[in-house]
Amino acid sequence: MQVTVTEIGNILTRSSGFLRTVSSHSAQPYRGCPFGNALCGAGCYVRHNGHVTRGRAWGSFLEVRGNAAASYRAAVDRERRWARRVRGAFSIFLSSSTEPFPPQEARYGITGRLLEAMAEEPPDLLIVQTHSHQVTRYRDLLHDLQRRCRLRVHLSIETDRERLPGLPPHASGVAARFGAAADLKASGIETVITVAPLLPIADPEGFFSRIAASADAVVIDHYIGGDGSANGSRTERPSLPAAMAAVDPDSVGLAYRDRMVRIAERHLPGRVGINIDGFAARYS
Ligand code: SF4
Repeated sequence: MQVTVTEIGNILTRSSGFLRTVSSHSAQPYRGCPFGNALCGAGCYVRHNGHVTRGRAWGSFLEVRGNAAASYRAAVDRERRWARRVRGAFSIFLSSSTEPFPPQEARYGITGRLLEAMAEEPPDLLIVQTHSHQVTRYRDLLHDLQRRCRLRVHLSIETDRERLPGLPPHASGVAARFGAAADLKASGIETVITVAPLLPIADPEGFFSRIAASADAVVIDHYIGGDGSANGSRTERPSLPAAMAAVDPDSVGLAYRDRMVRIAERHLPGRVGINIDGFAARYS
């Protein structure tokens, strides 16, 4: 993994495309992702984004945005005014194309300092999106933020299986992430488990029962319809669909998602979101 320290012109990107109805802005404290060679990287929608990868293999590079907090402080007044005028509210999705709590965060502290800057100059809504149980290290800072703005933590748990044959291991184990979700929820932070992308579930009743006990809501996001292409073609390229089909052939079709949604709705009535609507907290 090649790690470089860089500077970002403006950490607050005005959202477009599928994120547009979720938040006014996204923020990426890093470019690239060290989880790219873990299981979530196999289904990662960003790995084919040439603007991000610039031809480099996903998971092989990490650009550390050393000035992320300073960039936020410089841009926040202007972007808040724009967002409230044009989008109705100033809301930030952290992060849509990197992991905000990679192992390198322990050394560089980029996301931590960015969260501190947000606590000083809060948005109207902050959505923290992570694949890592390390988010609990920031519990106190998240509580600070929660006193100043609306806050949701989205923790991705795509399956109840710790391993899927033919795919690399999770970067952060299933049990560790469930533990982190339960910890955050118990501490009073609105916590959403994003099953994104939905992978074959060994025990659907047990999985969604566990989610109901560990989180306030669930989002179920199949790679078909969830990866930004109309038919899942961005995800069809890597090995993920073949590995899913080898475990459960039904899991590569949307009927599987709909079946999981029906089970989830029994465990979390009124708190189940599908694809992008779920990320925007529009629940069924
Ligand atoms: S953590 Fe997120 S950005 Fe990183 S590889 Fe996994 S899905 Fe992609």
